[in-house]
Amino acid sequence: MIIATGAYQGPWTPPAAAGLGPGVTQLHAAAYRNPGQIPGDEVLVVGAANSGAQIAAELAATHRVWLSRGAPIRRLPRKIAGIPIHSFGDRLGLIPAPFDTWRGRTQRGDLLVGPSLRQLARRHGIELADRVTGADGRSIRFADGRQLQVSAVIWATGYRPDYSWIHLPVLDGHGLPRHQRGVTGYPGLYFLGMHNQYSRGSALIHWVRYDAQYIVSQARARAAATRPGTGTSDDNPDDEPGAADDPDGTQLAAASAAQVRCQPFLMPASLTPRRVVVT
Ligand SMILES: Cc1cc2nc3c(=O)[nH]c(=O)nc-3n(C[C@H](O)[C@H](O)[C@H](O)COP(=O)(O)OP(=O)(O)OC[C@H]3O[C@@H](n4cnc5c(N)ncnc54)[C@H](O)[C@@H]3O)c2cc1C
Repeated sequence: MIIATGAYQGPWTPPAAAGLGPGVTQLHAAAYRNPGQIPGDEVLVVGAANSGAQIAAELAATHRVWLSRGAPIRRLPRKIAGIPIHSFGDRLGLIPAPFDTWRGRTQRGDLLVGPSLRQLARRHGIELADRVTGADGRSIRFADGRQLQVSAVIWATGYRPDYSWIHLPVLDGHGLPRHQRGVTGYPGLYFLGMHNQYSRGSALIHWVRYDAQYIVSQARARAAATRPGTGTSDDNPDDEPGAADDPDGTQLAAASAAQVRCQPFLMPASLTPRRVVVT
């Protein structure tokens, strides 16, 4: 069983949200669609990562906007010399690099892609505020001791996965899977698509395939090992193509790992290997 229920399942808001009174309009970034949802002409956006920064910039055209930032995060421009930053990350093999390699270590932590918060403030007149520490009625408190009376708040404070429906001894004290690259200690149970599962790319559409290849190879290897008889699948017409020739999945796993570790430097996309073919 491969659990691929998504890294960003449930909108998360900090406990301070519960302190706001009924007269304050509050919504999570997941529910935000356009500035028309925000009554009045003032709004506090809490969370200055990608969602919060982009929502604040959009709202600034119609509202007076405060943007509250939590932990500092690194920032990169959207493009360098006209080339999207994710292209660099891909061509240099940074995004799919395992976190325990030097390339992977450069990818740890969250990343703001686009204008810096200072640029946002300057260009859009957004007022930057410290981390929110509490709320009472219409009053919001910040870490630097300041307070603000608010009528509308957007919580751009992220998402959490929900594995509460799994009643097996594979979750830690925070309800998150204990695993090695998605492989749990419970035979036959795997996770895929988790935030930072193995690399920055683990929960990104273009790069999740590397973890997917690995998990499938692990599942195949286990299936072969537990199958009655020789452990090979040549006599089983229902097997997927390729499984018969790589019954324990080691070739696929090795090829997948090699591909991840050997992403070529600045190789043109047309020459970059895109598939692992097991023959
Ligand atoms: C604001 C935001 C912006 C993003 N931008 C990008 C981006 O620009 N590029 C990028 O690559 N990635 C982006 N991502 C990440 C993106 O969400 C993931 O890459 C992608 O959605 C992962 O796909 P998935 O199939 O693993 O999970 P999901 O798309 O979340 O799919 C999981 C599925 O599992 C279902 N499910 C959940 N629980 C159960 C259950 N108990 N039983 C059965 N089904 C269940 C859900 O209904 C859902 O259909 C962004 C994420 C967010 C939140």
